[in-house]
Amino acid sequence: MNIIDSKRIWLSSPHMGGTEQDFVNEAFRTNWVAPLGPNVDGFEKDLETYLENDANVAALSSGTGALHLGLIMLGVSHGDEVLCQSMTFAASANPIVYLGAKPIFVDSERDTWNICPEQLEIAIKDRIAKGKKPKAIVAVHLYGMPYNVEAVHQVAKEYKIPVLEDSAEALGSTYHGIKCGTFGDLAILSFNGNKIITTSGGGALVTKNEEQKKRAIFLSTQARDNAPHYEHSEIGYNYRMSNITAGIGRGQMQVLDKHVSYRRRNFEFYKEHLSDSSEIKFLEEPNGMFSNRWLSCIETTSYKLREAIRGALAKENIESRPLWKPMHLQSVFTECDAYLNGVSEDLFERGLCLPSGSNLEEDDLQRVVSVIKNVLR
Ligand SMILES: *Cc1c(COP(=O)(O)O)cnc(C)c1O
Repeated sequence: MNIIDSKRIWLSSPHMGGTEQDFVNEAFRTNWVAPLGPNVDGFEKDLETYLENDANVAALSSGTGALHLGLIMLGVSHGDEVLCQSMTFAASANPIVYLGAKPIFVDSERDTWNICPEQLEIAIKDRIAKGKKPKAIVAVHLYGMPYNVEAVHQVAKEYKIPVLEDSAEALGSTYHGIKCGTFGDLAILSFNGNKIITTSGGGALVTKNEEQKKRAIFLSTQARDNAPHYEHSEIGYNYRMSNITAGIGRGQMQVLDKHVSYRRRNFEFYKEHLSDSSEIKFLEEPNGMFSNRWLSCIETTSYKLREAIRGALAKENIESRPLWKPMHLQSVFTECDAYLNGVSEDLFERGLCLPSGSNLEEDDLQRVVSVIKNVLR
């Protein structure tokens, strides 16, 4: 097929449900064109209802901003150490550095591709032995697969270290029936353009109570004290979500569960058509885990095969991408210590994310599968 003739198939593109524009129009009609208003309140309520478990949600301008505020609220500051899953997007780790703290990276486990509870405990013991107890743990539900909540939180509890749960990729995923985004002492969500639902750009901090939510909103709106003039006794940030983008979010919440089912359908389709090959492996859901399958990923048998598949897909105008490059391999973090078992490096070498949007059609999936089958032949 000629690249010009074939429709581009994206890895994960925005997918509107239909009512988003109505909420945005209403914001214009009523002149709520500001970082507050009925859509912001409504979107927060929708998320709180969806997440259950008494979740309190502060809508913010990005998931990265939410991580930044989350670390501040957990007391992380200059000179602290924060343990962070190595296999993740850089935004999980960057806010640690914003605060003058030091990320210490922890490798993944095979079963979930997320932070390994054993390596986590080894890291904590070693940091304490070296004289500094880590201030927080950033654990990530990568690609929508929950991390091993029970084991990770047991280690965290034993050493009394708070967990900042990075649920940017896992809205709609559950662990033993409980929604991801409600496990950490604080948790974050992302509504970037490529995520399971989008507000074009946006995020949220999920807190355990109303007081923490108010604190997050206070910090995200320039930390303005209660006075007629502008009075400040703390450093503030400009991280609040806009009432326009929140309108998109309200529309997206109406189709969230449908989007999860479409993403899971993508995964099942790939698995059904590719798993008879011994050269391709899929990550199964461990007992009690339900993944939103934000991205459908495969493990190939070698770097060479992975690159052959990626190249063949690119030639057919199909976007695919190697799995997240671990943070301990990133040149920006070469100074940081890491506790490693080889899993994340191995996954990075052989793994590939396939087109996974909730707006893909069966023809698109069929095109992806036939290109891959051609390479395997
Ligand atoms: C997308 C993402 C973020 C950052 O969210 P933004 O809204 O893009 O700032 C953080 N962590 C992970 C794992 C992500 O995938």
